[in-house]
Amino acid sequence: MSETSQIENEKWIAAWGADWVLEGCASCNGVFVLPPEKVSQRCPVCGQAALAQMNPDDDRPIHTQPPELLLPFRAAREQLQQNVTQFAKSVWLAPADLQPATLLGRLQPVYLPMWLVDVQVQGEWQAEMGFDYEIVSHREQYKNSGWQTERVKEGRVRWEPRLGRLNRAYNNQMAPALEQQAEVERKIGRFQTQDQQPCQPTDLAGAIVHLPNRSPEDAWNEAVLGLQTAVAQECRQASEANHARGFKWSPSFANQHWTQLLLPLYTSYYLDDDNQAQMLLLHGQTGQLHGVRRASLKRARRVAGMVATVAAVFLLITLLLVGLGLTVAEEALAWAGVAGVLAVGVGGTAVLPLLYAWYVNNAQAAK
Ligand SMILES: [Zn+2]
Repeated sequence: MSETSQIENEKWIAAWGADWVLEGCASCNGVFVLPPEKVSQRCPVCGQAALAQMNPDDDRPIHTQPPELLLPFRAAREQLQQNVTQFAKSVWLAPADLQPATLLGRLQPVYLPMWLVDVQVQGEWQAEMGFDYEIVSHREQYKNSGWQTERVKEGRVRWEPRLGRLNRAYNNQMAPALEQQAEVERKIGRFQTQDQQPCQPTDLAGAIVHLPNRSPEDAWNEAVLGLQTAVAQECRQASEANHARGFKWSPSFANQHWTQLLLPLYTSYYLDDDNQAQMLLLHGQTGQLHGVRRASLKRARRVAGMVATVAAVFLLITLLLVGLGLTVAEEALAWAGVAGVLAVGVGGTAVLPLLYAWYVNNAQAAK
């Protein structure tokens, strides 16, 4: 270990607590801080590799300063149980490892990082502000053998150019600290950030903390986009307008202050036929679940084999009855027909489990 990384190492240990460990995943490149009892376990985010001690020469972007704020886990245990059970039941011909109890036993609390920035914004803005108004017109209509006047109200928008100066502080503007943030929110929904509280070491017990893989500098552009939306909204409100369009501004920013907020997530996994981990994500506030569905081709083959055996028995009966009909009793031929139809019908369904398993696995793989 080089001298600088030795110092770095001591710094972050002092910040997090002596027995916390820094490990990385070689598959998804995630960097995690974890308590000693979680060391070297399967990566809680991608499930594809075991976590391992970081190579000090590795230049992955890591921000090891401890987070200031967190959103606590709020999803009720029963809700998680219900969602996991429902998911497990939704897969026909599931791999043997896809069991509600197994999934629940592997539930791992993970905190994902999010940047919050406070900033002083100054500058000019201009926009077209829209004001709703109504016009009333009268329409003559011939009804019931007479002319009648009808009052017609119509909504219009009056657009006026406006401009102004802005000088104020914006607090807690969100900016993603993880490249995967948008994908996670697409799968399980957004996080309610009103609930934030100071991050205490005791809150992190048993959890794994994902460190940011985007720096504040990197996330700043997205924070500015969020700010622009907030500012445009406020300028519209200040103008008492109903609509705004063509918002332009020339802002300058000062006194940026960054904090890190942790978002609560549960992950779990099951192993498919090929011993590959398939991940489940559960929203730590709502319990909303996203999981990859994989069917077991082994089980599909077994079921198809059983169905084919039944079809073969019907086929055998058909042949026996045909033999009987041609030699001894002619009426056996009618029964041979019935058995033949059954043999073909049952035999045809033997491909369904295979088709289903193939479809489920490929439909998921395409996502
Ligand atoms: Zn990973």
